[in-house]
Amino acid sequence: MTQAVIYTDLDGTLLDHHTYELGVAGPVLSEVLARGIPVIPVTSKTHAEVQLLCQNLKLNGPFVVENGAAIWVPKTWGLLRPTGSASASGYWCHVLGKSRGYIRGLMAGLGGEWSSRFHALSDMSSRQVCAVTGLDEPSARRAQARHYSETLLWLGSAVDRIVFAQAVAELGLQVVQGGRFLHVLAGGGKGTAMRWLHEHICSDLHPDAISIAAGDAHNDLQLLEAADHALVVRSPLHEPPKPHNHPRLYLSTEEGPAGWAEGIQSIFEIIDKEKGYGRFLSERQHYYAAQSG
Ligand SMILES: [Mg+2]
Repeated sequence: MTQAVIYTDLDGTLLDHHTYELGVAGPVLSEVLARGIPVIPVTSKTHAEVQLLCQNLKLNGPFVVENGAAIWVPKTWGLLRPTGSASASGYWCHVLGKSRGYIRGLMAGLGGEWSSRFHALSDMSSRQVCAVTGLDEPSARRAQARHYSETLLWLGSAVDRIVFAQAVAELGLQVVQGGRFLHVLAGGGKGTAMRWLHEHICSDLHPDAISIAAGDAHNDLQLLEAADHALVVRSPLHEPPKPHNHPRLYLSTEEGPAGWAEGIQSIFEIIDKEKGYGRFLSERQHYYAAQSG
């Protein structure tokens, strides 16, 4: 079989939005890993959070943090040192964004009119973060350890949020809506990070690697659109994101990790059955188009 690489969002996709558990995705994840298929988290979570999660989930490859602002690659994983990457504790760290201090400095220029409409995650007490996220205190502190993005709990209206996003964009920053928080970045993004990593995987390890991306929210759109196969996982909380004109889109019937398991199994069943990427594409396009409609 052609080598595949799965790039996956975590909260609401591989992990349950409320419990942060794998649930029925656990056995499917184990099966995928046993087949030697890399599963690469692409998440709004921090380095501190994802490094621990990778240990618990037995993921030993790269991961993308803070909505694509930085990429961490274990030095022993097989990639050559990417140009421009820093060496840090057994990893190559490639930063696509700018520092949180830089982002905060620019946002200060927005003036006081917005300050009552959000709480910055990094300014909240860990107890407040626990209340919002359901995390325990050590986990909440790891969630607050942000370096390349500013994460906001939005308190204003949905209309205000759109106006705010426009004002932030005029500062040269990006705003993305996650399942729980609003994230402000200065460069990078889930899709940009995935493309960067996939190019390195193709050039150093597997020239014809197929990319499969899975996500459940608006901040996964870039990621889904950048991949060869997009798995949109339904959420119990919001409408699924709608990748623009993706020819190979699978929209899960199930929600959260159950939808991840369903979608990944379905995509691999088809790939295995067809034993060829080209045939898979031509025969399945209608099926995917119908799902995405
Ligand atoms: Mg999510």
